[in-house]
Amino acid sequence: MKNLQTGDQTLVKTMNKSIILKLIADKGPVSRAQISKVTGLNKATVSTQALELINDNFVYEIGVGKSSGGRKPVMIYFNNLAGYSIGIDLGVNYILGVLTDLSGNIIEEITKPLNGINFDYIIKNIISTIENLIHMAPDSPYGIVGIGIGVPGIVDKNGNILFAPNLKWTQINVKKIIEDTFNIPTRIENEANAGAYGEQLYGAGKNIDNIIYISIGIGIGAGIMINNTLYTGSSGISGEIGHLSIEANGIKCSCGNRGCWELYASESVLLSEVEKHQALTDEDGKNIESIINEARNGNIKVLQILNTIGEYIGIGLTNIINTFNPETIIIGNRMAQFANWLTNPIEHMLEERLSTYHKNNTQIYFSELGNYSCALGASYFSISNFFSNKKLTVI
Ligand SMILES: [Zn+2]
Repeated sequence: MKNLQTGDQTLVKTMNKSIILKLIADKGPVSRAQISKVTGLNKATVSTQALELINDNFVYEIGVGKSSGGRKPVMIYFNNLAGYSIGIDLGVNYILGVLTDLSGNIIEEITKPLNGINFDYIIKNIISTIENLIHMAPDSPYGIVGIGIGVPGIVDKNGNILFAPNLKWTQINVKKIIEDTFNIPTRIENEANAGAYGEQLYGAGKNIDNIIYISIGIGIGAGIMINNTLYTGSSGISGEIGHLSIEANGIKCSCGNRGCWELYASESVLLSEVEKHQALTDEDGKNIESIINEARNGNIKVLQILNTIGEYIGIGLTNIINTFNPETIIIGNRMAQFANWLTNPIEHMLEERLSTYHKNNTQIYFSELGNYSCALGASYFSISNFFSNKKLTVI
């Protein structure tokens, strides 16, 4: 066999190290013998690379595992506490920040309501949320490895927010502001893309290759995962599905179009319809939580509003299912909290409007991570960047 060049050898070593770390992260605790058996790498290679990973603090060995006889093997664990990551979900009317370990477990969280869309006001709140989460992080070898921020707008491949219609932001480089403030690598993503990642890794999309995550908050966006890969379009800005027209002569939208889906099927419609029809018995608490309570108590006006919104959600989903033929659609973000009342009108619309073939081949789920899909997905993006800069993968 031809001798490998030094460069090739380094590459092979790095690849082996990455394979071993991923196995430990997925299946750990595992013994060196098990790693060797599963990966096909010889024991000397496994030992060398495991030692490097121990020295890097990415894994540690502890105790003894089961053995069929003889000396009990030492087991190797993934060190999910070697560092922490911050995920921010920037809604239009709230910020949710999570501090996660390197396995995506939530360690701390902060939610703040936002009462305006002024840029300086929102940035100040994002920065203070991040500051608080950094202070809450336990000591660790790598500290905060990255910050991920999911935003309700179009984000290009360099992390520039090109257009966020509901925040009325254009051409804003939030990545630079956050990196200059904290000196921590930061990734900005569209919130629906981050949510799609979160759900596929940790939630309703686990082990499903083709999912479309529909984020229904103040606006509507979609994260499209095809064969486990996020489809972002030629310039990284696909998925602006809330601006698909569903009423030809409908209401004028801030995006320039008319009759956009999100003007009929989003949280903003719910809030404005509740206001317009004076639907709440307790006028003091006009927020999502009080609307949920009134729906639970059978408030007929609230139930009718939710039913109409559910029908409009169903109409939009019909277009998406006809276009993509996904295995699964996951409805997430704040409107997912109304799953109990939206499921029937959605199903009814799909029943009425989709061909049987499409209907029978698409599962509709509500997000399993509830309000956390985007924040967890954003945090995961940072974890993934951190490891890929070291030529390693864990997920
Ligand atoms: Zn629009």
